[in-house]
Amino acid sequence: MQTKTKNTILIGGMVVIISLVAIVLLQLNQKDGKEVVVYINGEEMARYELAMNQSIQLEPHALESNSLVIQNGECFIESSNCNNQICVETGKISKTGERIVCLPHRLSIQIEGGKAVEVDAIAQ
Ligand SMILES: [Zn+2]
Repeated sequence: MQTKTKNTILIGGMVVIISLVAIVLLQLNQKDGKEVVVYINGEEMARYELAMNQSIQLEPHALESNSLVIQNGECFIESSNCNNQICVETGKISKTGERIVCLPHRLSIQIEGGKAVEVDAIAQ
């Protein structure tokens, strides 16, 4: 009887440990994921996961708007009411260090990588 209980506890413990390892691995993977970082006036305003599809309406300053779209691991400015449209024409970015700049709005969108990507960059 007692041995049986012990075994049950052991199995239960192993399941818990395996679950914990799985969670840690998942979190590590998320850490390695790239992020879309939004800077306004050179200051970091927001961070979004590049892996998560969404569209974000940015208003860097009053009456200024940039539609940021994150789709299939890439991001781009879909539309903007700035005067030169360079941010829209830049197109899609997806690699660490790539950026979209909207000078009239003093807006900058940059792809930043997780830890592993930064190590790669140093090795290069
Ligand atoms: Zn622009």
